[in-house]
Parts: sequence; C-alpha cells; structure tokens
Amino acid sequence: MEAPRRLLPETDDVDTKGFWEGTREGELRLLECSSCGTILHMPSAYCHECGSWDTRWKTISNLGRVHSWTVVHHQVHPDFPVPYTVVLVDLDDAPGARLVGYLDGAPVLVCGQAMRARFEVLSDEVTLAQWDPA
Ligand SMILES: [Zn+2]
Repeated sequence: MEAPRRLLPETDDVDTKGFWEGTREGELRLLECSSCGTILHMPSAYCHECGSWDTRWKTISNLGRVHSWTVVHHQVHPDFPVPYTVVLVDLDDAPGARLVGYLDGAPVLVCGQAMRARFEVLSDEVTLAQWDPA
C-alpha cells in the first residue's frame, strides 16, 4: 500500500495567492486595506474596518514572537514523525495577526520568544513559512 502523500495548500486561490507568491520569494506578505491600512488576516476581499474593496499585499518583516505552542507525541501522518512542535507566532509587523509553523522535535520555547521565519520549499508552487528561534 502506497503511503499517503503530504497535503499541500492551494496556492492560486484568489484570496491567498499573494501570500504564497511572497513565500516563494522568501517574504511574508499580508493583505492590507489600501484605504485605512488595516491588516486583513485572514485575507478578505474587503476591509472589515472601513468597507473598502481596495486591498494590496504588504511585505512584512520575517520576525515574530511565540504566542503559544504544543508538542505532538501521537503520529498521525508518516511525513510528520513525532515528536514535533506546532508553534503559533505573533507577527512583529502586524499586531493581532498570527501564523502557524512546524518545528522538528520538542525545542524549549518561551512565550514571547523571538522567532524568525524560514521558508521550506515543497514544490515549484508551494513554499511554506516555518519558524525558528531567532
Ligand atoms: Zn480599511
């Protein structure tokens, strides 16, 4: 029996395409309202603050801080040997916005710890943003 393949995100979705174009270029990009500057994360076609439909992708720094994490000890997929850590990172340039990342093993983490994004290339289309201690 063939092992299940790792699931990959859809990278040409109208709402998230700009994020994936950014990760392929080694950048974090979030959607921003062009009218009032609100970061729209998760991305949406219009601004929930001012109602504008004028949005653009903004490159932000690759820095963040640990918001929370969990260590997984029960293996559910062959591509993710345990233990591994799922970390939730507050983005330095986008207060209130967070991204999830994967770390091998069970590194010692502390809430508020500085993290830096690294970019994991899975295919020509898919590059994931992951996080390492800065
Ligand atoms: Zn707005």
